[in-house]
Amino acid sequence: MAKREYLKPTTLHEAVEILAAAPGRRIVAGGTDLMVYIREGKEAPAALVDVTAIPELNGVQKLGDGALAVGAAMTHSMIGSDPDIRAVAPVLSDASSSVGAVQIRNLATIGGNVVNGAVAADTLSALAVLDAAFLTFGPEGEKRYTIEEFFLAPGKTAVGVGEVLTKILIPAQPGASHAFIKVARRRAAAISRLAVSVIANPDGGYARIAVGAVLPKPGRITPAEEALKEGFDLAAAKAAGEAAKAHVLSISGERPSMVYKLPVVSSAVEKAVIKALSLREVK
Ligand SMILES: Cc1cc2nc3c(=O)[nH]c(=O)nc-3n(C[C@H](O)[C@H](O)[C@H](O)COP(=O)(O)OP(=O)(O)OC[C@H]3O[C@@H](n4cnc5c(N)ncnc54)[C@H](O)[C@@H]3O)c2cc1C
Repeated sequence: MAKREYLKPTTLHEAVEILAAAPGRRIVAGGTDLMVYIREGKEAPAALVDVTAIPELNGVQKLGDGALAVGAAMTHSMIGSDPDIRAVAPVLSDASSSVGAVQIRNLATIGGNVVNGAVAADTLSALAVLDAAFLTFGPEGEKRYTIEEFFLAPGKTAVGVGEVLTKILIPAQPGASHAFIKVARRRAAAISRLAVSVIANPDGGYARIAVGAVLPKPGRITPAEEALKEGFDLAAAKAAGEAAKAHVLSISGERPSMVYKLPVVSSAVEKAVIKALSLREVK
């Protein structure tokens, strides 16, 4: 691998200045995606700018209204074990805890997971049901994006060249119960074939359902959410699974792999709803 400059700013302004100072400079956090791309020759940055020592990107802040601001440089291990995130957003704690193996989770950050924007990235369906928002800082100052604005296409987000993702904002979810289910070839250290995130609040009369790895962009499945409004019971859970299957087919089309994937979509969505509502034990 060619030698390249490695810079580690300790303030946000310094990071933005360094990124703007020369072309081809690239942000790195855990490096678990970027270093693989460099080794495979898909990326060749002139210099790496490590953003993990910047205070704004670290830790979890509790906001006045019960919402959380999660630093983009938090690793999946930190997210999985943080008590405030577990209290507000257990679906995200579980999604981060399902990433790779412990060595990967100790290095890999949530910021890298979302900016890399892979369709199989495990946190994306969780962030969709949480209705998360994204804060960036760059030459034009701070910007805030909704999830629809942030993810543009597979592997492409709204984060511009020279911009740093600083925080992920997670609104409070009072009275809601959460479930995350990952389907992969192996139980551990495997990329998702399907991820399902559900947040349900029968008293509030709403549910949010999103799937990852089978759609080009993270997003909620409204027809599945509507199906649950019929009763938040086992029949509605099954109907939600069927609605999710129809939605995935309508977006992704009849591809050979769909014969295997679609039954898994309906059954995993049904199971995740049952788990979130504690209708019976789900393994
Ligand atoms: C063996 C292995 C197993 C894996 N298993 C899984 C898995 O099960 N589930 C899963 O979802 N992923 C998995 N991954 C992928 C990877 O670990 C995650 O996507 C991880 O969260 C990336 O974070 P990072 O900090 O390492 O990102 P990096 O590689 O450092 O960066 C990734 C991209 O994001 C950009 N970036 C990073 N931070 C910022 C920021 N704050 N602002 C702006 N841009 C930024 C970088 O420039 C780069 O383009 C796996 C990877 C490996 C090697």
